[in-house]
Amino acid sequence: MDDIGSFFDGNRNRIVQLCQELVRVDTVNPPGNEWRAAEILEREFRRLNIPYERLEKEKGRTNLLGRIGKGKPELLIAAHFDTVPFGDGWTREPLGGTEENGRVYGRGSMDDKGQLAPLILAAEYLKKHESELNGTVVIGGVADEERGSHAGSKWLTDSKGVHPDYCLVPECSDSMGMIVIAEKGVLWFRVVINGVQAHGSTPDKGVNAILLMNEFLAKFRKLKFPARHETLKKTTINYGIIKGGAATNIVAGRCELEIDVRYVPPYTDKTFLDAAGNVLEEVVTKQQGASFAVETINHEPAFFIEPKHPFVQKVRSIARKTLGHNVRLQGVGGGTISKDFVRHGAVSITFGPGKEEVLHKSDEYIDIPELVVFGKIVTRVCLETLK
Ligand SMILES: [Zn+2]
Repeated sequence: MDDIGSFFDGNRNRIVQLCQELVRVDTVNPPGNEWRAAEILEREFRRLNIPYERLEKEKGRTNLLGRIGKGKPELLIAAHFDTVPFGDGWTREPLGGTEENGRVYGRGSMDDKGQLAPLILAAEYLKKHESELNGTVVIGGVADEERGSHAGSKWLTDSKGVHPDYCLVPECSDSMGMIVIAEKGVLWFRVVINGVQAHGSTPDKGVNAILLMNEFLAKFRKLKFPARHETLKKTTINYGIIKGGAATNIVAGRCELEIDVRYVPPYTDKTFLDAAGNVLEEVVTKQQGASFAVETINHEPAFFIEPKHPFVQKVRSIARKTLGHNVRLQGVGGGTISKDFVRHGAVSITFGPGKEEVLHKSDEYIDIPELVVFGKIVTRVCLETLK
């Protein structure tokens, strides 16, 4: 048996201190200020003699990646430095990092700064065992995860050549009860209908964009997208925003609708954009003077890692042995940085401490024992993957 268990048990207090220290610096995004948390990680890398790279697309939006070992393959494990805003309803200080009943409370304690604390200890252990690594472990923090990763993983993968072979995204996954191996496609799109404005007393002289949108909605909602995916289950559609009209006494000249689709293969973004276009064609073009547009706001294709993939199996078996309970493989509705790495060829999974119920809420907390056990698991995953 390795001594990883006793190393992490013995470093419980260090993990708590690092978690608290990270929570106490304000990296609310917007604006981000990720440099404040990156500074703490940088200090630790220096102390441990771990070479690192500091990457900033914009000043202060720091990504920091440390490297242990050398050559290929590369396994990247990166938490994100930024947090969502505090919001209301806190009974504790959002930046307090108070320890209470085996938990650390504060914004980012679970998402995603707490995870960084055991990662620093993992880096320390792995540095001491560097000669056992056949490949490189990249441990670090990224910026801008909560607002689209434009200064974070998107930029790192698309423009800075950060292309690991394996990736573990340390985000909450039902308190390490599941490994996320698939994400639905995420398509946000806007439907715009332009009618013909007229005086409110003479609606016949105009073409009301609100009424056309109403007709569009009625028809679009009747469409069926029945395909089911083994891991990702079914497609969902949400109607998030509707805006239209200028005044009570004006026939609405314009109406906009924003739709959030989480789709499963074999569908693609085109499936939904075309379907919307066809309905609009039918509803709008028969009206003299009216027109429409369909605009993509954001699109991330679906991805799916084979459950049988050796990396998935390895993480699952190490997690199972370390935790003493089963860990299921599951798909989610999208939203982690895995997609950016998968787009560039990585086998990427999401796995980490924390529960979804706590995510982005007031009185966010992380259970300290979960952080300790997570450290053990990731350290073993690194050593086993790069054996
Ligand atoms: Zn997160």
